[in-house]
Amino acid sequence: MAFSDFSEQQQAAQLLQRSLARGRLAHAYLFTGSDLAELEKMATALVKTINCVAPPQLSPEGVATDSCDRCASCLRIDRYEHPDIHFVRPESKSRVITIEQVRDLMQTIYLKPSEGRMKAAVIVAADRLNPQAANAFLKTLEEPPSNSFLVLLSTDPQRVLETIVSRCLRLNFESDPLARLNRIHGGWLREFAALAASPQKGLFGRYRLLDLIISRLAGIKSDTEASLTERSPLQRYDDADPRLRQRWEDELAAAIEAEYRRERSDLVLSLQWWLRDVWLRTLACGAEVLAFPDLEVQTGSVAGRLAPADSLQNLETIEHAQRLLGTNVQEALALEVSFLKLRL
Ligand SMILES: [Zn+2]
Repeated sequence: MAFSDFSEQQQAAQLLQRSLARGRLAHAYLFTGSDLAELEKMATALVKTINCVAPPQLSPEGVATDSCDRCASCLRIDRYEHPDIHFVRPESKSRVITIEQVRDLMQTIYLKPSEGRMKAAVIVAADRLNPQAANAFLKTLEEPPSNSFLVLLSTDPQRVLETIVSRCLRLNFESDPLARLNRIHGGWLREFAALAASPQKGLFGRYRLLDLIISRLAGIKSDTEASLTERSPLQRYDDADPRLRQRWEDELAAAIEAEYRRERSDLVLSLQWWLRDVWLRTLACGAEVLAFPDLEVQTGSVAGRLAPADSLQNLETIEHAQRLLGTNVQEALALEVSFLKLRL
């Protein structure tokens, strides 16, 4: 993604672009927000712009202010293969960034850029730097090598050491959580609402709704597996020591599980918001209070069949499903029990 592709974060993207144009890039940034993947995309857009060989946008002084997203440099950054751009993320089973990882990073960041104009390191989840790693990192933040800069990302900045925060320029990318759910799950939710609004009722109808969420979850699972597997060092180092490979395999499995749970929780959350819309409609609230105003028609036709009490019951049912999924209850069971109770 290039800066111009961010539809929800235009202001923050433009702020970075202006800093680039004026040659006033900070040595260290702390990007904060609620969506780590989104923060990583923004950091990637920044490091691509600096090293892009065919920038589509230049300042009057000839400085790149966006990336082409297609040249060899941009593509290598996307594949985590650019020798001057380093991504550090929690890797060990305990989900922390260790001092060894920070030391490895130091070794490479103090070398001159080998291809690009600048070296950069992106610390994904800076709140996961363990104390020793954070302290080792502090020295680099105090005296960053020339031609280099650092981007720290965190969804939990309260847990980043104050000494680190104070050395970074902080940019907040808090996006509207509903806009985010809409972007990720809006299409699916439209399908769900249309099916719920259709005349097909009863147990068969509820099974069809259950099928719809199960197939969506299967899609999320395979996408998550594919994207995390692609990033894993397993793909790049075929001849690694078997013990190391075993560690990578364990880490990959843990990362897939964590990411999948997060995405599943978001999907159910979008459903919670929609069922809340249905409930508000049964109370004759106006469209301006709806979370998904573009689903007004479907929402209205479901609400037209329900009493407010039934609608409130649905909301409680789906909230209960969300809680169950947060425990170790089997997913299929938790979904089936909940979905067959929905009155739509
Ligand atoms: Zn490029």
